[in-house]
Amino acid sequence: MRRTLTVLKFVIFAILALSLVLIYLQGRVAVVQEEQYLLGTYFRVKVQSRSHEQAQHALSEAFTAAKTLAEEFSRIGAGSLGELNRRGCCAPVPLSEDVLTVLEAAQKYRELSEGAFDPTIGRIVNLWGFTQEWDRSGVGRIPSQQELQPLVEEPRKIVLDRTTKTGRLSSPNIEVDLGGIAKGYIVDRVVEVLKRYELDSALVDAGGNIRVFNDRPRKVLWWEDRRPFRIAVQHPRDERKILGVLEIWGDRALATSGDYQRCFFADALGNIFPCRYAEEPDKTRYHHIINPKTGLPARGLISATIIAPTAMEADALSTAVFVLGEEKGLALIESLPSVEGILVTEDGHIVTSAGLRELNFPKKLN
Ligand code: ADP
Ligand code: MG
Repeated sequence: MRRTLTVLKFVIFAILALSLVLIYLQGRVAVVQEEQYLLGTYFRVKVQSRSHEQAQHALSEAFTAAKTLAEEFSRIGAGSLGELNRRGCCAPVPLSEDVLTVLEAAQKYRELSEGAFDPTIGRIVNLWGFTQEWDRSGVGRIPSQQELQPLVEEPRKIVLDRTTKTGRLSSPNIEVDLGGIAKGYIVDRVVEVLKRYELDSALVDAGGNIRVFNDRPRKVLWWEDRRPFRIAVQHPRDERKILGVLEIWGDRALATSGDYQRCFFADALGNIFPCRYAEEPDKTRYHHIINPKTGLPARGLISATIIAPTAMEADALSTAVFVLGEEKGLALIESLPSVEGILVTEDGHIVTSAGLRELNFPKKLN
């Protein structure tokens, strides 16, 4: 009896000691994060590594890359996208490899979505006041039909040439706007940079364009720390609520396009009121995702979340699906392997693609 008690004491002691060692080892993991304002949004990188030095280096190189790319993708800046917009009509302009790659992808998504995703939408977006001015004042404007119609009807083409690495625009009335795809591309490029370091996991988030990787699980002795990233999906009508939480394993991306962050309201007299999540009684909401066929803010969905292998794919598809609406948007998602989606309709229904049927999200907004 005494012997059993001694053995038991020893076992308990051993377990306690081992737990302390594990807690100590776990505590040595460095989690480092940083946030900077780039491309009109908060760009956040969070990395986990057993080497604090590796984590710091990774973070600093990530932001250097993100800043350089953000300048390249400014539609009015000194980079080649800005040049294309200033001088692209109607002679070819040299393009950087990054800008050319994203323009090619944008053309692909334009075709895939039958024109719902449209990188030539810039002038129309400007007419609604969603420019840097909106960033300062939070106030947009409602353009007249006379202003909109000519821009909507104009055939808007971008002609790219991979061999000469140039691009040109078919008309002076076009402004190329990669706002619906470039943030995703930058997130992917930053992930490429991070993967060169010894990191256990990382999260890159450019205003809801997110990519995570944790495909190299952390090992503490024989124990493998395998945990998914838990990412909340925003409730589109209440800033303080979420729709639910998605568990993301391995290396995946997700993006949400919604009508609640860049918007404004107007009353019947045309008075303008600032953007907010909740509806405003007797006022109409106008937002920054434009249906290229009408030139008006897309109606039907209020939020579209896409899960895809890369952040660029998720970014472009979330914008495309938002414009396409529930039926056509879901059809596009289902036609693509490894792509899933969660859509919220104007009347508050939450619809998920076939691969997410098991998800325990509510069926209606509450
Ligand atoms: P966010 O920029 O808030 O992440 P999105 O990825 O949905 O949201 O992109 C919206 C941006 O894309 C707009 O601000 C505008 O610059 C551009 N845009 C608007 N309508 C379209 C469209 N139909 N196709 C492609 N880009 C669009
Ligand atoms: Mg997008």
